[in-house]
Amino acid sequence: MTPGRRRAGTVYLVGAGPGDPGLITARGRDLLSRADVVITDALASRDLLRLAHPAAERIHAGKRGGRAGADQEAVNRLMIERARRGHCVVRLKGGDPTLFGRGGEEAEALRRGRVPFEIVPGVTAALGAAARAGIPLTHRRYASTVTFATGHLDPARRDAGPDWEALARSGTLVLYMGVKRLAGIVRRLLAAGMKGETPAALVRWATLPEQEVVEGTIRDIAARSRAARIEPPALLIAGKVVRLRRWLDWYGRLPLRGRTIAVTRPRDQAAPFAEALLDQGARVLLAPAIDLLPPRSWAPLDRAIARLGRYNALIFTSANGVSRFFARLHEKGADVRDLKGVEVIAIGPATAAAVEARGLRVGTVPEEFRAEGIVKALGRRDLRGARVLVPRAAVARDVLIRALRNRGAEVDVVPVYRTVASREGAAEIRAALRAGRLDLVTFTSSSTVASFAAMFRAGREARLLKRVPVAAIGPITAATARREGFRVAVMPRSYTVDDLAGAIVRRLRNSPSGTLRAK
Ligand code: SAH
Repeated sequence: MTPGRRRAGTVYLVGAGPGDPGLITARGRDLLSRADVVITDALASRDLLRLAHPAAERIHAGKRGGRAGADQEAVNRLMIERARRGHCVVRLKGGDPTLFGRGGEEAEALRRGRVPFEIVPGVTAALGAAARAGIPLTHRRYASTVTFATGHLDPARRDAGPDWEALARSGTLVLYMGVKRLAGIVRRLLAAGMKGETPAALVRWATLPEQEVVEGTIRDIAARSRAARIEPPALLIAGKVVRLRRWLDWYGRLPLRGRTIAVTRPRDQAAPFAEALLDQGARVLLAPAIDLLPPRSWAPLDRAIARLGRYNALIFTSANGVSRFFARLHEKGADVRDLKGVEVIAIGPATAAAVEARGLRVGTVPEEFRAEGIVKALGRRDLRGARVLVPRAAVARDVLIRALRNRGAEVDVVPVYRTVASREGAAEIRAALRAGRLDLVTFTSSSTVASFAAMFRAGREARLLKRVPVAAIGPITAATARREGFRVAVMPRSYTVDDLAGAIVRRLRNSPSGTLRAK
């Protein structure tokens, strides 16, 4: 495991932040990537767990709705036991670990057990919700105090609970865990002197694409919450500052807010594209339709690697081809020096970037990022006798290879990976289809189209799916999608994922939800 700033035998009570995995602290992320054991609670984001070391032990120890007692004892014992084994333990807790999250109790148990610990703060839900809903918690004109309180009281405690008068007087009041008891809480606040017309907002799933906000006044917020069927986790923000949301709701104004978009790229390649969509407010469903596996045999590539010096050109048609080619090159004890004198051609900017990241200069990137583009870029160049190596997917289009051979080149096509169908994410897509919530499916290659379509061959879902518009990265992918019965509504001018994201934003920005759907 990577060495770094972590102490063995220590428990780190780490705040995971409010939900968006980007909102964990740098220290928290660091520890997470180095922990031997990660113990999560119900609210700590699942996406964050991907940051943990693959070999780390992952234990889910969460309770929702506050079933305490025995569970908490078990978590305490678990943390202590793992730390005593000398492990670095990260106890990942939603928001900030000590705010309404029993972090204090866990620290006490650790102290009693003489286990060293560190508390790593997190962005608590109140701050996440306020930021993402466009509500500044204090403001020189409207509120100079803010109170964080919980609407859930320890049932064992028989006293009167919070000082409702004090809560009612707070400039801004944020109430955690109060959704189920909202009507009762509101009654008490009103009785304690809070004005009925105090602006109020309920924020559910703050900072996640699922975020919902219901706005009203303290008098009607409970009824509005019921009408909108707001369930936990949500929190209440009450105070004049809520009114500023009208101006400051930047998140709600993002062009893809409220849209659900399926990304079908292989998981290890999906991130930059998915992030570009998330950045514009979309809810992204990752449904990788294909997986990349090693080729059935490395022999053809190994033969080529053994005589790299004899090639005049090396053509990459995907960033995957690049990473897998170089991984094998390294395994075979060779490196970039063996490519001296070989011209490197990349199909597009992402592929070129992958090559250059390995310290090699790319000679040619065509103007049009597809096989035909490479053919065009080679122009009238005489290729007679030229020896060309093309490391790529086991099954791929042959336009490029045919064209090169027609011009007299000697082409070695060697498989560096193969694609297989994947059904990961199919369940989520199905659920979104049934709920009528899928706004767009994106395809970045023909093979993903075929494999995705195969997941939904028959039945109601297949019919529903064909009504969802599609965004295709380029003309070949679009043609495959049409052949599979999809309606292609978006295609970028240049065939990169950045431009695809841009084209999606332009297309969806001004069309009210649903209008892209075919009748
Ligand atoms: N330690 C956590 C709070 C745990 S208590 C923190 O600092 O945020 C759980 C309550 O937090 C929920 O009932 C809800 O009121 C609130 N909460 C947590 N995450 C939330 C989110 N993403 N959106 C809205 N409320 C959230």
